[in-house]
Amino acid sequence: MEKFDLVIVGAGFAGMYGLHKFREKGLRVRVFEAGTDVGGTWYWNRYPGARCDVPSIEYSFGFSDELEQEWDWPEVFSAQPDILKYANHVADRFGLREDIEFNSRVTEVRFVEEEGLWEIAIDQETRCRAKYCVMATGCLSVPNTPSLEGADSFEGQVLHTGRWPKEAVDLSKKQVGVIGTGSSGVQAIPELAKQSEHLFVYQRSAVYTVPANRKAMREEVQAEFRKNYRQIRELQQLNFGGVSNFRLTESVKRAVSKEKQTARPSKILELNEETLKQMIKEQGLGVLLSFTDVYSDMRANEIANQLFREEISSIVKKEAVASSLLPKDYGLGCKRQVLDRDYYETFNRSDVTLIDLEKTPIERISPKGIVTGDSEQSLDVIIYATGFDAMTGALLKSNIIGRQGKTLKEKWQFGPEAYLGLQIAGFPNLFTVTGPGSPSVLCNMLVAIEQHIDWIADCIGYLDANGFSSIEPTCAAEQDWIAHVNQVAEGTMYTAPSCNSWYLGANIPGKPRIFMPYVGGFPQYKSRCDAIVKNHYEGFVIS
Ligand code: FAD
Ligand code: NAP
Repeated sequence: MEKFDLVIVGAGFAGMYGLHKFREKGLRVRVFEAGTDVGGTWYWNRYPGARCDVPSIEYSFGFSDELEQEWDWPEVFSAQPDILKYANHVADRFGLREDIEFNSRVTEVRFVEEEGLWEIAIDQETRCRAKYCVMATGCLSVPNTPSLEGADSFEGQVLHTGRWPKEAVDLSKKQVGVIGTGSSGVQAIPELAKQSEHLFVYQRSAVYTVPANRKAMREEVQAEFRKNYRQIRELQQLNFGGVSNFRLTESVKRAVSKEKQTARPSKILELNEETLKQMIKEQGLGVLLSFTDVYSDMRANEIANQLFREEISSIVKKEAVASSLLPKDYGLGCKRQVLDRDYYETFNRSDVTLIDLEKTPIERISPKGIVTGDSEQSLDVIIYATGFDAMTGALLKSNIIGRQGKTLKEKWQFGPEAYLGLQIAGFPNLFTVTGPGSPSVLCNMLVAIEQHIDWIADCIGYLDANGFSSIEPTCAAEQDWIAHVNQVAEGTMYTAPSCNSWYLGANIPGKPRIFMPYVGGFPQYKSRCDAIVKNHYEGFVIS
């Protein structure tokens, strides 16, 4: 059986950078990827309207000067095809494909205790062994398709935004139903409305969404970024969400004196209603997201929610539709913030119908369409924009078996337990990239990915240089870290009792309700990881 130093599962941005970095360290690496090419999220999510909600300058790799200097982003927030082009460019430039096996779904990752090696099975067939295993399987890579009665009986076409086909999908002259109004649904709906004959939107919970930046990248702006990449990457490391806000910081510095900067209100409770309405008029709805108390103070949160609702009511022409589009049972900041392009305006079109599932839930799927209440809507296509089994889904589906035959499923039956979102007690030399308990999805993911891969590479370098064979966290360190993760999440809108988000696992029936990502911010997290290394890998057992 073939033996590698290290196996990576997944060839999204995490697996790609991992391969480059670990090869640079002299390791013999093999990557297994279920898809037929690189890109992960951007390979699978090809639905119309898919794009980044972090500026592309920020959502790009920082590990190579040459890569930064040679790449042009066409838009400030790039669309999926451009991000996938970038992933392909990275793969070509660093010769990654030669060490990636595509079309290869890992179905078991088993620790062979006597040998101290991980054994990897592809499609049930044992394929190779490796000393280290890095799970770069993604936080949002296992699509969630709800089990709706009769779903299999539908005679039309069925699509999922998270598994959109490579071939063009022709929706013209089609009656299309889309289920779900999270980030994917909100991005897709305005585009689907343009492409289909009639679009029926099945909404269970209304969403808080604010208009996205639509600017094309100007040449002089790209040039300015090129000159300042090092500073941008440094600023990212200091920012809570791993975003430098480079131009904003620079222009604010230029335009506003120091006193004025500090005098700028950061709390919604410090402002009266009129001022707030004026700010929305001048700066857009997104300004509501810039007040810190909106995320931690229920009164501030309700003020923002109310202003948000009033604004939406003024865009959507039909009163009943506007009323259905207003979120009612939860506040801003509970779920991942959604950005849109003409979402609310789309509901003013005569060829778009909103079906409010709070009033008339889906009874079943019929061979011809979707039945809500006592009416059946005939459809040619049903599109599920129903999200993902987030953060733990792909790890659990990979069937990881650790020491003494204990499975990850058993270990995580009451929720994910991991140290720093990097390693799991009982699973030596196995690493997770952006795993539960790390900033991951609350951060610019490329910054989070690079920090994790660099940390793992340094860790392996340390083990190999000192003749150590294995590393894993102690159960005590793991429990302390989980307690810390829970403690920082407490009192935020993320964990409010009214909040049911995928961050909490609430979108998957039966999934334990635990807040999974680390909400303490990227800089605090990174300095904790660095301090642990300085302290001779405190909390880990090295043997
Ligand atoms: P992924 O890109 O998910 O890659 C994981 C890969 O592992 C996949 O290709 C999958 O096929 C493979 N895999 C999983 N299990 C197995 C297995 N058992 N065997 C073999 N292969 C396996 N983040 C941001 O920071 N900003 C954004 O604007 C943003 N936009 C997003 C938009 C969408 C539509 C989605 C779904 C996510 C978005 N994200 C965003 C999060 C995004 O997932 C990350 O930014 C990033 O792409 C994750 O990279 P990754 O390599 O960790 O995981
Ligand atoms: P999501 O946020 O989980 O949204 C899923 C939607 O489907 C929700 O509206 C949900 O309703 C609905 N739904 C689920 N099950 C349903 C059922 N049985 N019946 C009716 N409706 C149902 O998933 P997503 O939109 O794919 O986004 C997931 C994450 O991916 C985002 O939060 C973000 O991190 C990332 N993403 C980012 C972007 C971007 O802008 N860059 C774009 C897409 C995705 P409820 O709310 O009632 O559960």
